[in-house]
Amino acid sequence: MNRTLYGNLIFELSKKGRKGYSLPHDYDRTHTTAELPQALRRKEAARLPECDELTVVRHYTNLSHNNFGVNDGFYPLGSCTMKYNPVINEEIAAMKAFAGLHPLQPADTCQGALEVYFNLQQSLAELAGLSEFTLNPCAGAHGELTGLMVIRAYHESRRDDARTKVLIPDSAHGTNPASAAVCGLEVVEVHSLADGTVDVDHLRELLADCGSQVAAMMMTNPNTLGIFEPRVLEITELVHAAGGLMYYDGANLNALLGECRPGDMGFDVMHINLHKTFSTPHGGGGPGSGPVGVRQGLESFLPTPRVVFHEEEKQFAVDAPEGALGSIGCFFGNFGVMLKAYAYILTLGRENVKNVGPLATLNANYIKERLRDDFLLPIQGLCKHEVVFDGLADKSTGVTTMDVAKRLLDYGYHAPTIYFPLLFHESLMIEPTENESKETIDAFIDVMHQIAAEAKSDPEMVKSAPHNTPIGRVDDVLAAKHPITTYWKSIEE
Ligand SMILES: *Cc1c(COP(=O)(O)O)cnc(C)c1O
Repeated sequence: MNRTLYGNLIFELSKKGRKGYSLPHDYDRTHTTAELPQALRRKEAARLPECDELTVVRHYTNLSHNNFGVNDGFYPLGSCTMKYNPVINEEIAAMKAFAGLHPLQPADTCQGALEVYFNLQQSLAELAGLSEFTLNPCAGAHGELTGLMVIRAYHESRRDDARTKVLIPDSAHGTNPASAAVCGLEVVEVHSLADGTVDVDHLRELLADCGSQVAAMMMTNPNTLGIFEPRVLEITELVHAAGGLMYYDGANLNALLGECRPGDMGFDVMHINLHKTFSTPHGGGGPGSGPVGVRQGLESFLPTPRVVFHEEEKQFAVDAPEGALGSIGCFFGNFGVMLKAYAYILTLGRENVKNVGPLATLNANYIKERLRDDFLLPIQGLCKHEVVFDGLADKSTGVTTMDVAKRLLDYGYHAPTIYFPLLFHESLMIEPTENESKETIDAFIDVMHQIAAEAKSDPEMVKSAPHNTPIGRVDDVLAAKHPITTYWKSIEE
């Protein structure tokens, strides 16, 4: 990109009086601001950039080249499942027959869309081993909140009002305690053992102490370290015996897909991120979808609307029964996302969906075994869909996980997740996903070895990376605490 010519900001390209549009000559006469109340009108004209069309087009095209997505290169962001978004799914979601629908149109005019909706509800229930799903929640965290509201409604229906605590392992994703707090529940932390799994003895102590106040335990399995909880059945039994329900954070179901099901492990309520496991775009590419499923007996606590099938009339219908939680989002949720997820499920089919978990797991373990010479592996044994290192094995160079992540950008890779999970000081969490080829993964491994060698031979160079990106290191804290969000503010300060 030619920075001197095109500049960093569109404001810097502005030339007074330059225009990128032309309006009809009588525009001012036909479009008047006279009806706007005086108090609502601007006192002075907005200071907008003035540019010709081609400059605008080049500016934004160049900016878009600074972007990085799954389609640009390997994106091993742990706990995020940056999975390839197949193009056909995008095309299906954009079909006029779907994209042109209105959420309020009568059910008999959109039977096809309702059928897709219904089928996705059913497919997720089957994959999860649960009874019924709502597709309304629009993100993983939104699903967690919905699931906890279902759990609270269940306890309240039994007049068991004392259950206000939620047990959450200290390794959990940050949204778990946040969702519990938003739901008005109190978070009680369950310790992890040195191997990263739940400390069941600590759980027993907590249940002995306040079991009758426990609404639920939230768990991620495999946990956020990518480790399958070997004592999950014992844990679900303990919590059930105390009268609590088990919540499964299934944001990332990649490791289990086709292998085993949360319902069979004893979980009562869960959410799934369609924008992780089911290949729909997320991050800057959102919007997301976090469907929530429940085991048999809890269906009536799910939010509405849900889509049902009436056998006699052979018709799909929208169901919003009285007494349910009500609606927790607008209309049906993010329908376009659901179309993409359903297309992905159908593309795989019953046979190939079984390969997702094993292939994702194989890829992560391959990376683990090939990088363990240069990177510190704090947890031995098989991981699932992601692997966590504790920085470089050789700590004498002073090169940190942050430095490794920054240097990866120079080689054209998105960085892995860093400094999460919090259990280790130098966490570096890599998640490949099942779609990556052996060549892609090998090339990434070579670069990681290269960076480890550079850390020894030229640590200062690694510590000052990135060297090839449009900007180098930003002050993250300053950017978060004192963001400058407008151009005029930035030059006036
Ligand atoms: C991504 C993730 C979430 C949150 O999902 P959002 O859609 O970002 O709200 C929750 N739990 C785990 C384990 C996750 O990986």
